Amino acid sequence: MADGEAPNWQSTLSDLLSQDKWPEDLSHIVDKLSQNIALSLEDGKYLFDYRNLDIIGHLAAIVKRARFENKVFFNVNVHINQTNICTLACKFCAFRRGRRAEDAYQMEVEDYIEDLRKYSEHVDEVHSVGGLHPEWGIEHYADLFSKTRKEFPHVHIKALTAVEVKHVAKLSGLSIHDTLARLKDSGLGSLPGGGAEILDDEVREVICRGKESSEEYLEIHRTAHRLGIPTNCTMLYGTIESIEHRVMHMIKLRELQNETSGFQCFVPYPFLPDDSRLPDAQLATGTEVLRVIAISRLMLNNIPHIKAYRMNLGDEISELALQFGADDIDGTVQKESIMHLAGSTAPLDHDKAKLAKIVSNSGSIPIQRNTTYSSFVEFVPPTIPERRSLRMAVGD
Ligand code: SF4
Repeated sequence: MADGEAPNWQSTLSDLLSQDKWPEDLSHIVDKLSQNIALSLEDGKYLFDYRNLDIIGHLAAIVKRARFENKVFFNVNVHINQTNICTLACKFCAFRRGRRAEDAYQMEVEDYIEDLRKYSEHVDEVHSVGGLHPEWGIEHYADLFSKTRKEFPHVHIKALTAVEVKHVAKLSGLSIHDTLARLKDSGLGSLPGGGAEILDDEVREVICRGKESSEEYLEIHRTAHRLGIPTNCTMLYGTIESIEHRVMHMIKLRELQNETSGFQCFVPYPFLPDDSRLPDAQLATGTEVLRVIAISRLMLNNIPHIKAYRMNLGDEISELALQFGADDIDGTVQKESIMHLAGSTAPLDHDKAKLAKIVSNSGSIPIQRNTTYSSFVEFVPPTIPERRSLRMAVGD
């Protein structure tokens, strides 16, 4: 049982589901959920096609409620993107720069520590991802993490996506296993899970050619889990993928979780088309975002937490996502670059009170957690926040 879950939540779920009258054409899904049977590819596609989103959302909310009651989790972190210089050029990416670009940057170890020092009293996690720097191998990151851990022992280091791990391993002539083991010894606490995009190699060839393959993404996470490094997993949707690709993506993550139980949280986020290079992509509608959150909750019966990524969704949709099956919200960051450059207008100076207000507006209780979901404290929001919106296409 994952930390934070209600005891015997599966039998609670059966009870809760039996108290509602469900439409006949959803009974096969409800029956499976009631018996904790994993939904199939066909079930997932059916849910994406199902006309009544409110019912899907209600179903997902019940699963969330059985598992976590009316709690919603968050932690207090800061995002520091160590460099935007990248040897790849993924088509959806508005963040990366070539080395000679005017606004290319790289934070040396001391710059990074200096930056973190500004926030370290207020955060318990630093979340760091960045470009594939052509020269930063294992020595650089081992030095970065060990100095960070030494200076800020209370700050959990959640850093490096799978492709960054692959890049560091390759530059350093090490296996993935040895790279992760060395990084763990240096202070790396967990992997954030970015870079999964869509786990289908034909889609990846178009949107992120040269990045790790689907199997490599899974293998890097498998290796991390076996080394005792927990990870998150993500899905970037709304580029060129089909509904089947989305459902298969979830199934692949679920299958790895059956093997390792190392995923803590699934974070689905829509592609924000501004300023990047996939002209055919459409900005996700609010209803599409909510449907993906709800279906994630229903498909991923073995990944405990589903996160509403506020920097990407905005306040209003995040609040609704918490009523459509999400139990976790990210967004107490004081700075973040990647989503901002890709079109997000969510404020960059969030604090706990604003985030907690979103949680309480959704009818839930905000619970501050640590990165690994092993310590929990109820948070009482003291003030009413200013609300801001993310531009979102109007949908059906
Ligand atoms: S998504 Fe990551 S790997 Fe791809 S271009 Fe951007 S920074 Fe580089």
